[in-house]
Amino acid sequence: MISVEEARKILSAHFKVGIPTSIELRKSLGSVVAEDVYALIPVPSFDNSAMDGYAMKFDEKESEWKVTLLVRAGDTSETSLEPGEAARIFTGAKIPRGADTVIPQELVSYDPETKILKYQHEKITTGSNVRLTGSQCQKGDLILSQGTRITPGVVGLLASVGLSQLTVYSRPSVGYIITGDELQQVGATLREGEIYNSNGPMLEALLQQTGIKKITPYHVPDDKEQLQRAIDMALEEHEVLILSGGISVGDYDFVKECLESAGVVELFYKLKQRPGKPFFAGKKGEQWIFALPGNPASVLSCYNQLVKPCLKHLMGEQEVWKPDLYLPLKKDHNKKPGFTFFVKGRVSGREVEVLQGQQSFNLQAFNVANCLVELEEEKDLIPAGTLVPVYYL
Ligand code: AMP
Ligand code: MG
Repeated sequence: MISVEEARKILSAHFKVGIPTSIELRKSLGSVVAEDVYALIPVPSFDNSAMDGYAMKFDEKESEWKVTLLVRAGDTSETSLEPGEAARIFTGAKIPRGADTVIPQELVSYDPETKILKYQHEKITTGSNVRLTGSQCQKGDLILSQGTRITPGVVGLLASVGLSQLTVYSRPSVGYIITGDELQQVGATLREGEIYNSNGPMLEALLQQTGIKKITPYHVPDDKEQLQRAIDMALEEHEVLILSGGISVGDYDFVKECLESAGVVELFYKLKQRPGKPFFAGKKGEQWIFALPGNPASVLSCYNQLVKPCLKHLMGEQEVWKPDLYLPLKKDHNKKPGFTFFVKGRVSGREVEVLQGQQSFNLQAFNVANCLVELEEEKDLIPAGTLVPVYYL
């Protein structure tokens, strides 16, 4: 049995980034850009008004202008002003030639009869309220480095320079196989001795949260032939295969031998961790295969702590093992030494609390949990105030 730390090292040694692929901007959220991105145009691409007001060539000695023009946002005509003239202008509208400043409408008085604009304040200086060409970026500027994850703000940034298509690391297609004779799908009626398949919907949600789009479920009973067929088929179709259940040492746990028959090479099996000791990781060529023990809390923990980092790396992310933050434990915690624990926790304020109900079948604490907390392998008593790694859910 190896430690979690060794498992991370073995998985990292098999990391390989996915293939760059072109994607529509509007579908790119959560992807990682596979090449440096340069601005196609300057932004703004013309000097424009930051306010609704009046544009003119500003001179501290002047306090009156004659309004001779109206410029709206989107006006594309060339306009110009003579000295002493001003333009009524709106936010985003192009500054007329001959003007260099905008005075907000709240700071002026305007007589529509005479078209005379008066301004008494002293807040304005030359250049006020004008957004200059290229003040966000110049044409050809590097605006996004390879390896950056696309957030909604990045989507906006890329749209602002006119990019509708970009190159990102592709997201793998993932198949998952749910095993267990006792399982019934949610929505069906349970018979005595059956339980609902909670791992399927949960895995699907976890994969979606990771940004995986192509997800295919397979359901098989604890039957070796059917499992073998499902594994073989899934390995034909997907770059990543995840299995739930059937990886322990029970008489009906066939996952490991079926994976071997399918040509999957074991990277490791069984970890000094709780929950999720009988975790299996393997590869078949470039394909990743992860078999997770069936208990639902093990599935969530194994996925988040071991599977997700591999998927994220495949999709171009760096530093995939890093905890989100370190926080002091709220209360003393006693654990069994010799195992790394990943416990359901709740960050509140500047502390993290270990929640009640840590059994691996028990999902109730997820109603309030917002993180998993990693508790060191060697430790037994972990005193309140100890800084512990925290991973948000
Ligand atoms: P296994 O790893 O197949 O021995 O399963 C361990 C425990 O997890 C058993 O109590 C199973 O009933 C339960 N289990 C297995 N698969 C699921 C599932 N898809 N949803 C909920 N519980 C499951
Ligand atoms: Mg089972």
